[in-house]
Amino acid sequence: MSQLSFKFPDNSVRKFDAGVTAGKIAKSIAVSLAKKAVAAKVDGEWVNLDQPLNKGGKIQIVTADSKDGLTVLQNTAAIFLKAALAKTFPGIRFGESGSEKNGFYVDTDKKGTQVNSDDLKPLSDLMNKFVKNDTKLERKVLSLKDALNQVDGDPYQAEIVRAFAEKHDGKVPFYQVDDQLVYAKDGALSDAKAIKYFKLLNVAGAYWKGESSNPMLQRVYAIVFYKQKGLKAELAKIQDAKERDHRVIGNKLDLFFVDPKVGQGLPYWMPNGATIRRVIERYIVDKEIANGYLHVYTPVLMNLNVYKRSGHWAHYRDDMFPPMKMDNGEWLELRPMNCPSHIRIYNQHIRSYRDLPMRIAELGMMHRYEKSGALQGLQRVREMTLNDGHTFVAPDQIQDEFKRILKLMMDVYHDFNIDNYHFRLSYRDPNNTKKYFNDDALWHKSQSMLKGAMDDLHLPYVEKEGEAAFYGPKLDVQTYTALGNEETLSTIQLDFMLPKRFDLHYVGKDGKLHRPVMIHRGIVSTMERFVAYLTEQYKGEFPTWLAPHQVRIIPVSMDKDGDYAKKLDKQFRSMKLRSQLDDRNEKMNYLIRDSQTKKIPYTLVVGDKEKANNQVSVREYGHKDSKEMSVPDFLKIIKHDIATYSRN
Ligand code: ATP
Ligand code: ZN
Repeated sequence: MSQLSFKFPDNSVRKFDAGVTAGKIAKSIAVSLAKKAVAAKVDGEWVNLDQPLNKGGKIQIVTADSKDGLTVLQNTAAIFLKAALAKTFPGIRFGESGSEKNGFYVDTDKKGTQVNSDDLKPLSDLMNKFVKNDTKLERKVLSLKDALNQVDGDPYQAEIVRAFAEKHDGKVPFYQVDDQLVYAKDGALSDAKAIKYFKLLNVAGAYWKGESSNPMLQRVYAIVFYKQKGLKAELAKIQDAKERDHRVIGNKLDLFFVDPKVGQGLPYWMPNGATIRRVIERYIVDKEIANGYLHVYTPVLMNLNVYKRSGHWAHYRDDMFPPMKMDNGEWLELRPMNCPSHIRIYNQHIRSYRDLPMRIAELGMMHRYEKSGALQGLQRVREMTLNDGHTFVAPDQIQDEFKRILKLMMDVYHDFNIDNYHFRLSYRDPNNTKKYFNDDALWHKSQSMLKGAMDDLHLPYVEKEGEAAFYGPKLDVQTYTALGNEETLSTIQLDFMLPKRFDLHYVGKDGKLHRPVMIHRGIVSTMERFVAYLTEQYKGEFPTWLAPHQVRIIPVSMDKDGDYAKKLDKQFRSMKLRSQLDDRNEKMNYLIRDSQTKKIPYTLVVGDKEKANNQVSVREYGHKDSKEMSVPDFLKIIKHDIATYSRN
């Protein structure tokens, strides 16, 4: 019998007879390892523990307690789910399936009525039956011909098995579960007992291969864990994410709405949401002015020719609303970015080196024709207002200006209590000439300068191709939404391209004309995305300085204490506190609870005693007890709260 040689992670090499299984190899190393083993990888390819091996290579035994170990369990559960689907809906077609993020999924197409959330219960019952009966997974290797026969009538699966066979000597793994034979990638356990702690979560549309021009399939999404503890923790996390979802909170706290009948992705800001937004806008404008920015207003419409010159029309057209033809033959375009507007402001006068860095900023409203499937509450919209700024610098000022912007960003993050983020350097994809300017030298220069600036600051970052703006690379600050998705909040972008395109100049010390460099930057992103982010971050419990209502005053009896309550309310408002008098004729307990539900930072109850002593009974949000104090003492507390941006 021929011998296979395996190299282990510690670089030791051992030989085994051909046909040996990864399970046996694990056992030969240590029984304890074999006990924990769930699958293996040979030269990076998944193999099951009981699968006879006929090729040696670099071997890695995958144990249950590792990240890969969870992938194996998810993959296994996906096979059982696929079998359950096939059994329940004969003739169903399957797209991709397997492990993803924190769970597993199977994409389906049932032709007529699609799989929907009502199907989850019976599917789950069937999977539990597999678990109870400890149904086995039996691996069968089919030739491509047999495999294609097996998936006859399912174009997606035909494509998948064909692609697999191409890379694997014309062989395709199938799994027998009960009376169903389904295709699945390797890296699976063989018995259903292991998937006991699973939960089918939802069904949602997913494009075949993730491309919106392809048919929409229905994705059944689920989670599974080796231990009940893991499942419980994940379900709690999901519940928390649901409660944090800014669309849910936005509704409860009456912050905003989007009505598709009135316009998809076009949000309406209700008074409460508008207040939060206004506070942020005032904060950031003041902060920027203090940092040397010149705030301007520019129109949302611009002659299309400008966008042709900037390159937007060539590289960004898919994201733009169609232009409007005017009576005089002029074409107007709703701006998708503010850069050309600020360039126009720069060009209004001849600039000298003494004017640089010149920092032009605006809360600029822009419109982007985002795909309807990508729209998401306030997170991704079609009309948005960006905290935008463009600094025009001499080439030798890039480094300093970059640092300055980063410092401003960190200050702002500190005030908003944002600490969970990472930096991403976003480069162009050199093969994508449709999206990016074709100027290798300038791309090389700007990308290496950006990287150099980050390295000089010793800041950690990840690098990603294909995420740059069409005109230049970006430093993106990546945060996370309640649903665990990564999103860009702040961005700093280095641009040599637009200054060249618009032939920008400044008069240097030498009296000659020089070309400035542009830095595009957004600190708190768009008002829409930022408010969505903060809503999730704070779970709707906005700190006092941001809360739509900061104080609610509840008189014990409107008849007896109403005048005192009104007087306080008037006094607080005159001090620019967002005060609210609750004069409803309801039970005290109800009114206090309502104030808590609305997450108002301070609830003041005033009765005879308070009125007589110029006092208030103060209950802070989230606290059960209340404190008696004088009005000036209360004002001291709330003002301090606001001035320090603190969370109560
Ligand atoms: P994304 O990759 O999120 O589509 P982008 O790379 O097109 O964004 P920029 O042109 O740099 O983004 O826009 C600046 C900032 O505006 C982004 O960093 C993001 O925070 C925010 N933003 C972009 N598109 C939207 C949108 N459709 N809705 C809300 N905010 C957005
Ligand atoms: Zn810009």
